[in-house]
Amino acid sequence: MKTLVPNYYKKFRCIADKCRHNCCVGWEIDIDDDTLGYYADLSGDFGKKVRQNIDFDDECPHFILKEGDRCPFLATDGLCEIIKRLGEDALCDICTDHPRFRNFFSEHTEMGLGLCCEEAARIILSYDEPFELVPTDEDFAVCLDDQEKEMFDEREELFSIIRDRSVSVFERMERIASKYSFELQDLFPEKLKDLYLSLERLCEKWTDLLLAITSFDINKSILSDKKYSVCFEQLLCYLIFRHFVDGMYDDRYAPRIKFAISGVLLVANLCDNVNCADLDIFEISRMFSSEVEYSQENLDKVFDSL
Ligand code: SF4
Repeated sequence: MKTLVPNYYKKFRCIADKCRHNCCVGWEIDIDDDTLGYYADLSGDFGKKVRQNIDFDDECPHFILKEGDRCPFLATDGLCEIIKRLGEDALCDICTDHPRFRNFFSEHTEMGLGLCCEEAARIILSYDEPFELVPTDEDFAVCLDDQEKEMFDEREELFSIIRDRSVSVFERMERIASKYSFELQDLFPEKLKDLYLSLERLCEKWTDLLLAITSFDINKSILSDKKYSVCFEQLLCYLIFRHFVDGMYDDRYAPRIKFAISGVLLVANLCDNVNCADLDIFEISRMFSSEVEYSQENLDKVFDSL
């Protein structure tokens, strides 16, 4: 399958034991059939240990999380015991893939890095070159069907507005709002605070941040600080890249555009409201992603409301 990836894609390397939000904590990992068969045949004490830590009775067999919702194979040094003992090829599909995501089309796939991973967030937001999709193979020629062509043309227009560095990121968002006939002010975080607080939440810190949302003065905000314009441009490109294409299946293109813009406005507002070295733009964007973007239930609720 021919694949397109963002130009920053190859920069990603998992930072493993240096990661503050290890993805091996807090997520129940389903094991795919091939890997399950491989684990079933593993010999020796380690094979026995692997099997003892899998819930085979569930519809989707998965690793049984330990105290603190830690993966049973996450060692105290922050590294994965399965990789250490058996190598990376022994990982199940979900562990191998994370934090990558894929969108499938008739003749090709798009693959990206998910913002919920702190290293991916750092790479995505700090990448200075304008967002671009590049093929992983040299020979990239595909035929798009009519619906795909229309969607990609529309998305390309959005990207070209977002990448226009001759104006501020806020002006670029205004242009998009005008093109799609909605009011940018309606997406200001103070207007959507109740919506954000009605969503399912994972972490108390996120709730505290949402409660601290205040009215937004764009001119005095981080959004007008040139130092951060690349971060917000990349954040907006990422959200459009990841979510716009699914409009092909439910025709909810406009809510997805509004979601992307409201995400940028929310991250900017939260960055302005916190005074804590640990909560920089990368961390707040990562939190937004894992709290809102990675929950289909939350996403649907947001799309329905915008
Ligand atoms: S969140 Fe990202 S950097 Fe951290 S352990 Fe997972 S893949 Fe690696």
